[in-house]
Amino acid sequence: MLKKLILVLNCGSSSLKFSILDPSSKKTYVSGIIERLFLTKTAVYIYTDHKEYKKILSDYTNHEDALKFVFTRIKDKYLNYYNQIYGIGHRIVHGGDKLNKSVIINHKILQIIKKFSIFAPLHNPANIIGFKISKKFFPHLKKNNVAVFDTAFHSSLPKSSFLYAIPYKFYKKNKIRRYGAHGISHNYILNKTSKVLNKSKNLLNIISCHLGNGSSVTAIKSGKSVDTSMGLTPLEGLVMGTRSGDLDPAIIFFMHKKLGLSIRVIEKILTYKSGLLGISTKSSDCRYSEKNYQYNKNSKLAIEIFCHRVAKYIGAYSTLMKERLDAVIFTGGIGENSILIRKKVISKLNLLGLYIDKNLNNNVKFNKNYFINKKNSIKILVIPTKEELFIAKETKNLINKKNI
Ligand code: ADP
Repeated sequence: MLKKLILVLNCGSSSLKFSILDPSSKKTYVSGIIERLFLTKTAVYIYTDHKEYKKILSDYTNHEDALKFVFTRIKDKYLNYYNQIYGIGHRIVHGGDKLNKSVIINHKILQIIKKFSIFAPLHNPANIIGFKISKKFFPHLKKNNVAVFDTAFHSSLPKSSFLYAIPYKFYKKNKIRRYGAHGISHNYILNKTSKVLNKSKNLLNIISCHLGNGSSVTAIKSGKSVDTSMGLTPLEGLVMGTRSGDLDPAIIFFMHKKLGLSIRVIEKILTYKSGLLGISTKSSDCRYSEKNYQYNKNSKLAIEIFCHRVAKYIGAYSTLMKERLDAVIFTGGIGENSILIRKKVISKLNLLGLYIDKNLNNNVKFNKNYFINKKNSIKILVIPTKEELFIAKETKNLINKKNI
């Protein structure tokens, strides 16, 4: 039987996504998500061309049990696809400064991923569980597991972007620096923009805005990431669903010393209770604040602050482009879907030569027309991100190289 499929695993902190796809034809055969891990009513959704399957698992299901459930179901119900899988691609959030390109996972690589759990304590351990359980269910593919890193695309950051202005020894000794994240998405966007604009990657100067539950902006100059809004961890930068993004570090001292909050509680507040949720006071979902924009002052504020921050980064990153900015691209759940956010962000950037076309912005049709800019504007595009496809292609390429 011709083996042509790649299984892509994306083990997040509280959810787990998977796809079985053909990187050549780009067709996805089976995909799914498990939501609410470690909470009540953990739910599994599995999608195929014709069917959707939903099941509620037992409360507080962990990654290991969730994966075992999914893999067993794939083997039982989709044996034909199971048998065609020849490689497994794992999205790994943090590769630190050691792993700056995709690699086949072996013992040594696993140790490095473990080591950098210190900077991604919610993600890297989950990614490792993904690898371990895959090895059990796909023992014949033990040597065909590939790690694709979210930090790798940002390994080109210059020191002026990645160093923090704290004593240098913290970088040298403790590796405290900007690593960025969402690199898989930004890299995919670069490749796709290069195709859409019919211009070679290394000639492109673009600003990629991945706006979702987690959000980041990346400045890409001559095809390389030269600055990005996420930092040592994905907490820095834009306003996110529940994360604060940028703030004065003195706020943490104030909360600790004056308000008596422990560091653990402050970490929780900045990670899970801030962002759109914190400002709107109701929901981390951008759709909620959009819906209530006209009627509720906090929802309006959430949207305004979110857009202000995105525009601020685009403005700042335009200064890195020197002679030319080719395009600004929106992607991610919010970037792809929110007419209001795109309109508000771009309306603050007319000075840079960015003007949105209302009609195009209101009627984005992927695959037909990615552009939403006016004729006299720098190009503005909306491109759906396809992180799974990027991971599958990397996996295929590495396995093919190994087998040459
Ligand atoms: P993640 O970072 O978890 O991958 P996504 O990129 O899927 O997140 O983005 C999820 C967010 O996208 C949701 O929280 C929601 O706020 C936003 N979103 C989805 N659809 C819309 C829409 N039609 N309008 C505005 N926001 C949307």
